[in-house]
Amino acid sequence: MAEIISGKILASKIKQEVKQEIKQLGIKPYFAIVQIGNNPASNTYVRNKMKDCDECGIESYLYHYGEGISQHALEVFLEELSISKDFHAVMLQLPIPNHLDMQEAINEINFKKDVDGLTTINNGLLATGQNGFIPCTAAGCMEMIRSTGIDIAGKNAVVIGRSNIVGKPVAIQLLKENATVTICHSHTIRLKEICQKADILIVAVGKKNFVTADMIKPGAVVIDVGINVQENGKLCGDVDFNEAKEVAGYITPVPGGVGLMTRAMLMKNILEATKCQLIKDI
Ligand code: NAD
Repeated sequence: MAEIISGKILASKIKQEVKQEIKQLGIKPYFAIVQIGNNPASNTYVRNKMKDCDECGIESYLYHYGEGISQHALEVFLEELSISKDFHAVMLQLPIPNHLDMQEAINEINFKKDVDGLTTINNGLLATGQNGFIPCTAAGCMEMIRSTGIDIAGKNAVVIGRSNIVGKPVAIQLLKENATVTICHSHTIRLKEICQKADILIVAVGKKNFVTADMIKPGAVVIDVGINVQENGKLCGDVDFNEAKEVAGYITPVPGGVGLMTRAMLMKNILEATKCQLIKDI
């Protein structure tokens, strides 16, 4: 029976540490969130982020634009926030409407304020092993793996999913910690066989029950990133949790897992951005 890696416990510890450090810092971090449109999931995520900020002693401001905003207007606004001395941290809530180029917009955020870690500069810093902001979900996954105490070096790690937000940054971090990494995606063949060899399995696909117990190596660390809304309105991950927990060594639940860690890592990144800007004026 697997040990449950509790996002609730880990995230609460991280947020507590952030809160303490902000108190000692003596200045409040200022964080700007830009949201476009009224995606219901985004509304919930933004509300939760602002609640976390409140808890940690971070001042958060929401700039809410209608769906019709132009690429130019969005970029100009993000650039203004990046230059402004009023904010230490800036993020664009995703997804944004299809007529907008997400990466072009995000790249208007100064990489030192890019607490979501999604600018091309921060992607490049991560890929080349330099310090920068790491996307929060990917950073949260690593904290959860580390919390098990296993030695990542030399382990066979399999990441299902290759998005810029989760799959790729998780894979790069695992590589940095000397795991042997396989990245699987929608064109991968013999996925089951590959997964069965994984000591560490990260699943970020977005399909309920995508990973079943027979795909899991006994004793493996299983990190379920997926968030799926079931017919009854309840959330579940990509892993068949009830069966998988009988085979895995460690497993994350959904809800109560990676999602909470994503939120906590954002608080940590906001603190880091603030500290960097106190040392070095940008
Ligand atoms: P995405 O749609 O960008 O990527 C999904 C990935 O799954 C793709 O790389 C695709 O190649 C892969 N995939 C699809 N079908 C596959 C198949 N049959 N076999 C193997 N791979 C397959 O999604 P994303 O943004 O990376 O998010 C993935 C999941 O994680 C979603 O459920 C999302 O809601 C969730 N998510 C959770 C958090 C969190 O905080 N917990 C954060 C971000 C995303």
